[in-house]
Amino acid sequence: IERTFSIIKPDAVRRNLIGKIVAKFEEAGLRVVAMKKIHMTREQAEGFYAVHKERPFYGELVEQMSASPVVVQVLEGENAILKNREIMGATNPANAEEGTIRKEFALSVGENSVHGSDAPETAAEEIRFFFTDDEIV
Ligand code: ATP
Ligand code: MG
Repeated sequence: IERTFSIIKPDAVRRNLIGKIVAKFEEAGLRVVAMKKIHMTREQAEGFYAVHKERPFYGELVEQMSASPVVVQVLEGENAILKNREIMGATNPANAEEGTIRKEFALSVGENSVHGSDAPETAAEEIRFFFTDDEIV
């Protein structure tokens, strides 16, 4: 059993898609073991995406992620990290498979509706960034 970290991004929360996106996770056998709606500060978004600091889209990404509320979650299940990445689909919705969240809901490569951890180390780090142990049940 593995845990991964997920964000339902501002573009999706704004369009009232929280339930539809959570349903995709649950249908795939992932369980929500922690969840909260937050409005990230600019500093939080900068810290969370620090690995992308040198990329040309960093400023826009930080701006978008702190513009309005998001839903942060911990998802648990067999191969949760990979499974979540599959359900999300490719970063650019133009390349995302049918049935994936990004194919159905993403607006663009930047406003692509969800974030998911890409490896066990980043999953652990990202979970710790937003949740304390007692919030994961
Ligand atoms: P995430 O980390 O959000 O799950 P990812 O791993 O598929 O997505 P990354 O390469 O880690 O993609 O990029 C992080 C985020 O930065 C993307 O989800 C997207 O919102 C944004 N991003 C990535 N590439 C671009 C780009 N070329 N133009 C604009 N925004 C981008
Ligand atoms: Mg990534």
